[in-house]
Amino acid sequence: MKIITPETILSPTEQLSGMSIAFDTHIRAIGQLHELLEQFPEAEFIETPLHSMVMPGLINPHVHLEFSGNKSTLKYGSFMEWLYSIIENREELIGNCNEQCMAKACDEMLKNGITTFGAVSSYAMDLEVAANAKQKVIFFNEVIGSQATMADTLYDDFMSRLEASQSVQREGFQAAIAIHSPYSVHPALIKRALTHATKHNLVTSAHYMESPAEKEWLETNNGAFQPFFKEFLKQEYSVNTSKEFLELFIGKPTLMTHVVQANDEELQEIAKEGHSVIHCPISNRLLGNGAIDLDKLDKNGVSWVMGTDGLSSNYALDLLEEMKIALFTHTDRDLLPLAKELLSNATINSAKVLGMNTGEIAVGREADLLVIDLEDTPSEQLPVHLLLHGYNIQHIYINGNEVT
Ligand SMILES: [Zn+2]
Repeated sequence: MKIITPETILSPTEQLSGMSIAFDTHIRAIGQLHELLEQFPEAEFIETPLHSMVMPGLINPHVHLEFSGNKSTLKYGSFMEWLYSIIENREELIGNCNEQCMAKACDEMLKNGITTFGAVSSYAMDLEVAANAKQKVIFFNEVIGSQATMADTLYDDFMSRLEASQSVQREGFQAAIAIHSPYSVHPALIKRALTHATKHNLVTSAHYMESPAEKEWLETNNGAFQPFFKEFLKQEYSVNTSKEFLELFIGKPTLMTHVVQANDEELQEIAKEGHSVIHCPISNRLLGNGAIDLDKLDKNGVSWVMGTDGLSSNYALDLLEEMKIALFTHTDRDLLPLAKELLSNATINSAKVLGMNTGEIAVGREADLLVIDLEDTPSEQLPVHLLLHGYNIQHIYINGNEVT
C-alpha cells in the first residue's frame, strides 16, 4: 500500500485539498492522512513537492502507431491532398517507422500523462510494441477493403491479426476491432466483423463523417472522392451511404472518430445507439475538415471524448496539447466549463465508453495516477491553467506501479 498527500486532488474536475490517497493496484481510500495511516500503518509514504496535484491518468482512445514516422512527409490543408500524399509515401512512411520509432511514440504518450491508449492497427506491425508498452492498450485491429471480390481474403487477414492480438497475455492489454470508414469497407465485411465483435464482446471503433469529401461521396457519389475511387478501385458508387453504414452498427455501441460532418439526423442515430464521438481537433484542422460543432453534439445528446489521432495528422501525441487547442477552437463556449468538460472527456468519460475501471480518483478505481508539480497554490481556475501550462508530470502510476 502507498499513501500520497498532494496539495490538490483533481478528479477529474473537482478540486480537493488536504486529503490523502491510499492505493495499491486500486485506490483503496481517500481521507485525512492520520485516518489512512491508522488504517494502513505499513503503507509506504510518497514524497511530493509542495504544490503537487494528483489527477487521473489521461486516456487517448485513438492513435495510429504505424504512421508515427511522419513529420513533414505528408501534405496538410485538405483531406484529399493528405490522402494522396499517404498513398504516394506509404512505403517510405511505414518502412521508416520500425519498432523503435513506434515505441518512441508510446513513450511520448506516457511522458505526456497518457496511461491508456487505443491503437488502431492497419497491419499489426505495431502489435509487439503495443503489447510491450507500459500503458493499458486497446488494440483495434482494422478492417478495410471496399471490393466484394476481396472480402473473404481481407476478412481472413483481419481475423489472423485479431487472433494474434488475442494471444497477447498481458494485464491491461485487450484486443478490439476498428472498421476503417463508411467509404472504405464493404458492408458484408462490416457485418461479419461486427457480428464477431458482438459475440465476443469486443470494443469497436470507426472513422465516420470526417471530411467534406467523404460526406459528398456518401451522399451523392460525387465530389473529390469520385476520381480517387475511379482511379484506384474502379468504383463508381460508394459502398455504403452514411445511413446504411450507421444501420450496420445497430445494437453495437461504437466509438466513432471525427464525425465533424454529420448532420442532425445522423447525430440522433449516433445518440440513440449509444455510440460516442472521438474528437481530434488538431487532426481535423490539419486535414482541412473543419471544427466539430459541440453544441450540435449536445443538442442531439451525443457524448464525446478526446483523442489525438496519429502522427500522420498531428505534431504530437499529447492530450493536454489537444485539449488546449480545443479550448481555442470552440471559442463560443465559456472557458472554465469547457476546460472542465475537456478534462472529463479525456479521463472518466473515455474510461466509461471503453468499459474500463479507471479515469478518476475514487475508491475502487484502478490506480492510474499522475503526480504533477503545479509550482504554486492552484486557484479555482486550475482546469484552465492545467491546459495552458501543461506543468511538470513528476510521477506516473499505472495500476499502482510507478512507470517512469
Ligand atoms: Zn484515425
